[in-house]
Amino acid sequence: MSRKISDEVYLKYLLLSLNKDELKEICRAFNIKGFSKFGKEDLTNFLIDSLAEEEVAELLKEREMNIISREINRAFNIIRGDERESVQNIKIINPREHEIEIKFKGFRWTNELYLSIKDTNIFDPERICECRIGSAGGFCPHFWVGFMVSLKKGFFDLKNWTTTKLPKDFGKRIKNIQISTISKDKSMEQLRIFDVTSDDVRLLKFLNSRTTVYDGTVTDLEFKEDDFQGNITRYYIATLKNGKLGPQIKKKSDFNENELEEFEEIKARISEKKHIDAYLKVGDKISLNGSLTKDNFLDALVLKRVTKIQKK
Ligand SMILES: [Zn+2]
Repeated sequence: MSRKISDEVYLKYLLLSLNKDELKEICRAFNIKGFSKFGKEDLTNFLIDSLAEEEVAELLKEREMNIISREINRAFNIIRGDERESVQNIKIINPREHEIEIKFKGFRWTNELYLSIKDTNIFDPERICECRIGSAGGFCPHFWVGFMVSLKKGFFDLKNWTTTKLPKDFGKRIKNIQISTISKDKSMEQLRIFDVTSDDVRLLKFLNSRTTVYDGTVTDLEFKEDDFQGNITRYYIATLKNGKLGPQIKKKSDFNENELEEFEEIKARISEKKHIDAYLKVGDKISLNGSLTKDNFLDALVLKRVTKIQKK
């Protein structure tokens, strides 16, 4: 089985992922003249119109994998929390028609994807994304997140997907992606999607228990002041990087290196007094004990009720 949409239409979808310089470079490579007067959108159309059928095929062969891989990588990064935007919520708005809606959140913007992949449209799925690439039908990273959700939901079978090529390791990488139901009522199911190998997921086994951080480097110390009904609490939120986390042990002989998990970043709430006592500074390498909590406000794993801060 092969792709059902024409080469021209498919190429147009793919070129939406490229920036103006990349498009110009393709024009030059195919000896197309007179492209400099066009804005990005017109440049895409001009480029496709200027190419002969076999050149379209050649360009697809050359670029397809590269463009698709780049967008899929970004989708994996969004799920892992390694991009500037993250998945805010996933809703199955109509399970019969496989209709899903995903909200993405950046620093100051949100972005919404609507997607439905089913047997009758799998050759050119119904999709609307608010981003620049997606709004014109391109396969943006948001589409690929939706693609993974739909796949995990069983809305289609990967072997029936022929609309684009997929990176060789896609089948392997998608095994680390899981979805779980957050809530479900009569009309709507809400999901979350996560990478089982990511930091947060590995550390979750310590959630709500006493833990010890080993060798975390303080990269940020933010002073906070909370006023709760006139009671003022002063504390610091320390960002700790590249350390290890393990269960807090009662005696030294209980220490087991195999129980530790490396982390990239974790936060710790440190009282003003403990901060002064330990004389903490950015750059310090420290160990401490604390209870691991999920702080919804900070959207991070945070160690609270911190004790025994020790500098290295
Ligand atoms: Zn998009």
